[in-house]
Amino acid sequence: MSAAAPRRSSARPGSPVRTMAAKTERTFIAIKPDGVQRGLIGEIVKRFEQKGFRLVAMKFLQASEDLLKEHYIDLKDRPFYPGLVKYMSSGPVAAMVWEGLNVVKTGRVMLGETNPADSKPGTIRGDLCIEVGRNIIHGSDSVDSANKEISLWFKPEELVSYKSCAQDWIYE
Ligand code: UDP
Ligand code: MG
Repeated sequence: MSAAAPRRSSARPGSPVRTMAAKTERTFIAIKPDGVQRGLIGEIVKRFEQKGFRLVAMKFLQASEDLLKEHYIDLKDRPFYPGLVKYMSSGPVAAMVWEGLNVVKTGRVMLGETNPADSKPGTIRGDLCIEVGRNIIHGSDSVDSANKEISLWFKPEELVSYKSCAQDWIYE
């Protein structure tokens, strides 16, 4: 006999009520050209899958300079901006949307700090790269920027909705 998924207990008195909306928070994650060239797509996807986040969209593309300039527009006055756009357009990237409770914040924790040297072991940047200018992965830094980035990189019809059979085993 197969085990039935436990009943959700979010309505229990005193427990935080986590709405469906919270669980469907989305973030934009991109494996940068160095991550792709170094064969790290599988390792990075594995970490998000194993955590319990849900893949909503994924594409492999050579991003245009215009797209990358727009993606990093908030950094346009920083001295590293031209080099950053060049690096990001130097090869294909794997662009993804992941979904789940607090996925923006937790995704950033999983990435580690911007500078890999400051990133703890166990994080993606802490484990897999060395220099800030070759830090292998992008992750949205707020829900607002996630929404902006998702609409910049994906058409609405590219975001796939489906029911995950693991949902009731991942959330209370
Ligand atoms: N970057 C860089 N030099 C710096 C700071 C940032 O080359 O001194 C690059 C790095 O690839 C970083 C990206 O610019 O990931 C965007 O910077 P941001 O501060 O948004 O960091 P992130 O959100 O990626 O951690
Ligand atoms: Mg950023």
